[in-house]
Amino acid sequence: MAIKYIPEPFRIKMVETIKMLTPEEREQKIAEAKYNLFNLRGEDCYIDLLTDSGTNAMSQEQWAGVMRGDEAYAGANSYFKLVEAGQDIFGYKHIQPVHQGRAAEKVLFGLLMGEGKFSISNMHFDTTRAHVELAGARAIDCVVAEAGDPSIRAPFKGNMDLEKLEQIINERGAENIGLVIMTITNNSAGGQPVSVENVRETSKICKKYGIKFCIDAARYAENAYFVKQREAGYENKSIKEIIKEIFGYADMFTMSAKKDTIVNMGGLLGIKEDDDLFQAIKGRTICFEGFITYGGLSGRDLEALAIGLYEGLDENYLRYRIGQMEYLASRLDDAGIAYQAPVGGHGVFIDARAMFPHIPYYEFPGQALAIELYKEAGIRTCDIGSYMLGNDPDTGKQLEAEFDFTRLAIPRRVYTQAHIDVMADALIAIKERASSIKGYRITWEPPVLRHFQAHLAPLDK
Ligand SMILES: *Cc1c(COP(=O)(O)O)cnc(C)c1O
Repeated sequence: MAIKYIPEPFRIKMVETIKMLTPEEREQKIAEAKYNLFNLRGEDCYIDLLTDSGTNAMSQEQWAGVMRGDEAYAGANSYFKLVEAGQDIFGYKHIQPVHQGRAAEKVLFGLLMGEGKFSISNMHFDTTRAHVELAGARAIDCVVAEAGDPSIRAPFKGNMDLEKLEQIINERGAENIGLVIMTITNNSAGGQPVSVENVRETSKICKKYGIKFCIDAARYAENAYFVKQREAGYENKSIKEIIKEIFGYADMFTMSAKKDTIVNMGGLLGIKEDDDLFQAIKGRTICFEGFITYGGLSGRDLEALAIGLYEGLDENYLRYRIGQMEYLASRLDDAGIAYQAPVGGHGVFIDARAMFPHIPYYEFPGQALAIELYKEAGIRTCDIGSYMLGNDPDTGKQLEAEFDFTRLAIPRRVYTQAHIDVMADALIAIKERASSIKGYRITWEPPVLRHFQAHLAPLDK
């Protein structure tokens, strides 16, 4: 029996009409999009779960903030408000706005990584990996083994494998490790949380070898909520206290503010205390993003972001947010559909290999399921698997991802219980005809981040 849905802690004040195409129209649209869901028009999707990034619904307070945004080129009020909010929540001395998460990666990684260097992470997000490689370095993932088995229900499947981390540092040489990056929650592993203990132990290893420790902080609030639910000793701590402790163990963070900060555009770079590093960051920010007090954003964006930083910490909101995932997951449990369990913070990652055991990784089961969901109910999702991972940068050969997931990323404060039921019903319908579904091949691909642009064609065997 499905668990109870946690009612929304808000009411609706403005609506956006969405259209629903016929199954025949959807067949045609997805073929025209070369079977790449990024090529579809948003208006042709009934429920858009491509990403939870920048697709959030802002609150009345944030919209009021938009009107108050200070558009001064230098020294805008909205900038100071944002910096103060960042300093208050994370306890860091330096907070730099940038236009989104990958901009923070671009600004920072060029300073710490180059040829012959390595970045080690519990798992690199795709743009994070790309920016490590663009800086000339190589990215090594080091997640705990249970993350690789979607059926194992462990509380912190996003954690760093600490033994393996030390082993990699010793193999590659501590002087060659540009950064250790902890991604919270671990997006590529299914939005799985990382425990405070694991962050603390990772920090100790970094200190022991003199390596800088960075948090990839996109989902810091969802991670803190999981800690409060699952980690002994944190039941009575506030979300803010948990966040402070986690960030206290690191030297810096990069953040896509398009996730837990509940805005549509924005990013942050935080430096705990290194003034020299921050000076270098300011120089690169001016080159890539614009002057330091706006960092690629409008004053109104800075204002909405400063407000969203606090709204994202609200426990009633987080209970509803994570509850939405748990409700969808419980409907899948009832239907025997496998996903990365227990469900993560920002979406449900369906185990496409389990759904389509007859489709090998190089025929992209995660992408095949994403295409079926669109055909079935106009739901747009994406592959988080071999199709997204791409080719080895040294050999050009298709890599086999640790998992082939189809991600239903849930935008914040956007969809209702009825929409969630449409998602569950569509997956159940696809499961019933799973054995008749075929894989795909790539007919064209660009050299980096190919999944955003590649063309595919269905296989007929
Ligand atoms: C979204 C995301 C990024 C990149 O941020 P953008 O705002 O999309 O540029 C980096 N890391 C993680 C973990 C993310 O989820």
